[in-house]
Amino acid sequence: MVSRTTDDYVAMALAGCEAICEPAFWAGFDRASEKGFYDYFRQITDYEPRRAAKFGLKHYSWLCINPKEAEDVSLAEAVLALIPEFIDQPNVLGIGEIGLNKNSRNELKVLEMHIDLAARHDQLILVHTPHLEDKLKGTKLILDVLASDSRINPGRVIIDHVEEHTAPLVLDRGFWAGMTLYPESKTTPHRAIDMLELYGSEQVWLNSACDWGISDPIAVPKTALEMRRRGYDAASIDRLLYQNPASFMSQCPKFAIDGFSGVVGA
Ligand SMILES: [Zn+2]
Repeated sequence: MVSRTTDDYVAMALAGCEAICEPAFWAGFDRASEKGFYDYFRQITDYEPRRAAKFGLKHYSWLCINPKEAEDVSLAEAVLALIPEFIDQPNVLGIGEIGLNKNSRNELKVLEMHIDLAARHDQLILVHTPHLEDKLKGTKLILDVLASDSRINPGRVIIDHVEEHTAPLVLDRGFWAGMTLYPESKTTPHRAIDMLELYGSEQVWLNSACDWGISDPIAVPKTALEMRRRGYDAASIDRLLYQNPASFMSQCPKFAIDGFSGVVGA
């Protein structure tokens, strides 16, 4: 949301959205030092929730150094050292989006550092998986690293940007799967619904990826329209698009939205 205008907040509010969760992300350019991250964490834990509140929307965030900037291990160490100062902010749900970008050795090391931080602070985890030809290998590496840490409960981890060839790997091992809707890459609503028909909708959520590129903050409500067109009833649409993400996020006691009863897990 730090890259979006107030028009996007208006569109989401009108489409019936109640809450947004914003992962710590690449800024569109590599930050020069950990000081850039310090200000970014202030922005997504303090200023952006207040901006969203003006439109009646709750704003939650995740903290990390994203995989695109995780090649520099000493920068990553300096950024991770800042996170405990922000982790108890009322809108912080956990650590993310961590993961891999090019599947490099340094990225893996930084991924392990983040998983350790999440375990020590009992945080939910949001994971980015690489794009295109790196996705399958990267997803397998990430799942193995998570599984090798006995402190990590897969039901408290969401693996984002799954596709047809990675969704079953993620779900079979007890993790949540995120399907990311994006106009130019990642998944379209049609493709996401096709995947749901293949793999079911237990422990799955859909999200709209929003950044500086061409992206659609109301891709999730648009998917609800497409599900209606395909004959899904209101209850199953509500379960997938609303109850599922609320169930996952409410494992963090800070998550609270008016319309959700607080039932956790599938
Ligand atoms: Zn991502």
